[in-house]
Amino acid sequence: MTYGPKPPHRHRRTTAIAAAAAFAVAIPFTSGGPALAGPNFPSPEGNTNISSIVTYDDLITQLERLEKTSRFGVDVFTLAEVGTAVSTSEQGRDLYVATVGEGDEHVWLQGRIHGNEPYGTESLLAVLKEMGTNGSPDWQLLRDTYTFHVIPMYNPDGSELNIRQTVLQVGTSKRIDLNRDWGVGKFEAAESEAFYEYWTMVDPAFAIDIHHQGLKREYGTGDDVTLSLGISLAPGGPTLPGIEGGAYDVLTRQMHVHVYDELQKAGYVNMDRYQVGGSLEIDIKGGVVSAMMLGLDHDGLNPEGHSNPAIFFETSGNTSDGSLGQKARGKSIRQNVLALTELLVGMATGEVQQEDPARWDEIPHAPVTGYQTDTGVIPIGY
Ligand SMILES: [Zn+2]
Repeated sequence: MTYGPKPPHRHRRTTAIAAAAAFAVAIPFTSGGPALAGPNFPSPEGNTNISSIVTYDDLITQLERLEKTSRFGVDVFTLAEVGTAVSTSEQGRDLYVATVGEGDEHVWLQGRIHGNEPYGTESLLAVLKEMGTNGSPDWQLLRDTYTFHVIPMYNPDGSELNIRQTVLQVGTSKRIDLNRDWGVGKFEAAESEAFYEYWTMVDPAFAIDIHHQGLKREYGTGDDVTLSLGISLAPGGPTLPGIEGGAYDVLTRQMHVHVYDELQKAGYVNMDRYQVGGSLEIDIKGGVVSAMMLGLDHDGLNPEGHSNPAIFFETSGNTSDGSLGQKARGKSIRQNVLALTELLVGMATGEVQQEDPARWDEIPHAPVTGYQTDTGVIPIGY
């Protein structure tokens, strides 16, 4: 493990927030500002405007522009250039990665593994822009501490089709959920083979994955939730406490606690814990970030059993439900950028590793009745 606690530095919260606030200039949003805005920014009216969503061609254009204009060395490349055995999507699209930073520890940031969840792409492009151009001490600290591997559009085929999955091109046109495909006996889709091999080359210290969910209300208050904090192997559940002597069970909780505390300061964000079926913790092994935590050795590519902790963010609203209001676009992206920034800076300064993991229980959630696993529900107290 390379992510272990570092000596605590002075608190850098003011500068981190200030840096994140600067995104507001670049990303249009229509409300009067964080303090005045209500948290309900997904749109229940179903007026998603697909034409404003970043396409695969837009992605390439923006990445190439970032590579050209960055002061701090953003490197954009495809997995074909890396030389992975499988290097394109099912429909033959190149799979893009951007790296930035000079640190010894590698960090994996991915978005849009579900094609109908678009703001992972835009959030990561916004963060990548700061990493490449922002000379402030926080961003310098991040570049000095870490080398980032940014995958803004893990699922380009699903993104172009505005569907969750990818579609197999060989045989059956079967749809594959790429976030259930890093499992023993799986790896049905080309994207999974390609990014898994790249993961074994990178051996990241930790990973963050950006998603969308449907509209959601907070348990108990009924308030609209804008952002759910997720861990795909439940802390305290059947699996996570047994990995690395429980180290990930602790650190992933600390990551959530840190993001929860820092984003409370933004008045437009309302967070809770990600749950499924109302009251179940998710505990699936075939999710990409689950397999990372499990140290999956697929095809003998990870014989040393590298593993890394990982969490995910779920912005409320998605394009296929039509619940992604255009009016809320700026805030939806901005909350991800803020969450990513605070988490990364907190990891680099050691603030995250100082958080009290027991406070994970304070993040709003329904009373847990069980665990949703790949093979069914395990009731609590199993
Ligand atoms: Zn998703």
